[in-house]
Amino acid sequence: MKQIGIVAQRDSPDNRLFDTLGEILDLSFEERTFGDDRNVEAWIVLAADREFVSQMGRTNRPCYVVFQNQQLVPCGRSSKITFSTRPAAAAILAGREIETNEAIGLNALPRWLPNVAPVATKQESPVWAVQEAGRLRHHFVAMQVPALNDGEPLFTHFVGAQFLSLLPLWLFLQAVTEDQRWERPPLQATFMFDDPNLHWPTYGFVNFPETLQHANACNYHVSFATIPLDAWFVHPPTASLFKHNVQRLSLLFHGNDHLSDELARPYSVKRTRKVLQQALGRIAAMEYRTGLEVARVMAPPHGACSRNTLSQMAQVGFEAACVSRGSLHHHNKGDKWPLTIGMRPSDIIAGLPLFPRFALSDKCHNSILLAALLHQPIIPRAHHQDVAEGYQLLNDMATFVNSLGNVTWSDLKSISRSLYARMQDDTTLSVKMLTKRITIPIPPHISQIRIQCPSADHTVTDRFLWRNAGREPYWNSHPSQECLAVQPGTRLEVACVPGDQVSVDTNHVGMPGLIPLVRRLLTETRDRTLPPIHRITRRLRAR
Ligand SMILES: [Zn+2]
Repeated sequence: MKQIGIVAQRDSPDNRLFDTLGEILDLSFEERTFGDDRNVEAWIVLAADREFVSQMGRTNRPCYVVFQNQQLVPCGRSSKITFSTRPAAAAILAGREIETNEAIGLNALPRWLPNVAPVATKQESPVWAVQEAGRLRHHFVAMQVPALNDGEPLFTHFVGAQFLSLLPLWLFLQAVTEDQRWERPPLQATFMFDDPNLHWPTYGFVNFPETLQHANACNYHVSFATIPLDAWFVHPPTASLFKHNVQRLSLLFHGNDHLSDELARPYSVKRTRKVLQQALGRIAAMEYRTGLEVARVMAPPHGACSRNTLSQMAQVGFEAACVSRGSLHHHNKGDKWPLTIGMRPSDIIAGLPLFPRFALSDKCHNSILLAALLHQPIIPRAHHQDVAEGYQLLNDMATFVNSLGNVTWSDLKSISRSLYARMQDDTTLSVKMLTKRITIPIPPHISQIRIQCPSADHTVTDRFLWRNAGREPYWNSHPSQECLAVQPGTRLEVACVPGDQVSVDTNHVGMPGLIPLVRRLLTETRDRTLPPIHRITRRLRAR
């Protein structure tokens, strides 16, 4: 484990913050005298002043230097930060302007700093700069290191409205400690709409053929989280539209009956399993009738999901769940969640991989950038009302996402199965799984593959299984630490399956309850009558 030295000039450093950062980035932090470089990879200096900067020649390690407030100089009340095109900031930030209220009160770096090049500026004054000293690169920042309250997860300082204090520190530590030989998963994205069913070519303001047209024109993918209770009927031409355009439109699970908090209720294991069995059975029957495929990924209604339900989902065969970091925390306040949650490409909680999503809006640029910086799938979540005025919002946000570089838009199953880091060493391919089931295309010249199972929360014992995708129906068991012989050009499927996985009977799902049925019919009627009402009121207003 790499070690970072901390120099706290005045107050002691916030241990909660550094312990959490250390857990995520596999680092340890130690307060020590500046210049004692033994076993230290880099330095973090808090509350620095001019005198300290004059002594920085005492180290041969890169430094992250935070200035005392008194050293900083006012630079106006703008909420905009501009990144230079220098590679010191992450490539996806280069040349961008971001807007955040956090910037308003931010002061600039002292003007006496020698030989620095700005990385980020506010009204043309540097708030983050680098100094090249031989092979060393020191970072100077005006942003104070954030403090974590008791039990507060780190992600609360890395969300769209608040991230500026953590951003340079996060990027500095990542650059210092990262093993650059590992190739990260590609940038992946999908828009996600909650609630639509395929009873008709439209659902509320969503028009599926029109969605497809825009997705084709602006290069994006839309996943619809559909309610298993609604799967009793699918409009045949709409099913056909989905089946012929899997690269643009797809489906995933949205609860079972869409009752309030249905996946967060304190049900027994038996009852939770029954709810999930019914959801799987309803969708399996619909898939059998229509030939459609629904990703075994759950978007819990209203973001409400308990740890017990996550654990049961893993056991009955769901591959992942997709829920915002805030919702998960909000609905599980009594539960002890790791403070690291939401800062990795995916989290594995109670045996199930979780992908964070965030609300789609015309101001979600920061959330998109943060997801990309964390190598998370980019999943802006919407409701049908978000396209009441047309598809411009989706098209604009897709253009922004596509400006990040080479982004793959796809369905949740494909996203989940391609979340792994890889490293090629001669004829061996090493793979670090970030979810629990992946598919690996074997590149030319590779004869063996070494797999690292995903780091779990240690509450679940997994079995490691593999098979050749599309060739073998049965899984083979294998000790994960040993190499597997492979053939270039084939695709290897790998799964870490819970030791206590249960098979559920999806043929007998029972009748729907009267209350969920009536409730859902009323909601669907409301959603479907909104567009005509909207059209009439617009016409009346226009007169
Ligand atoms: Zn919903």
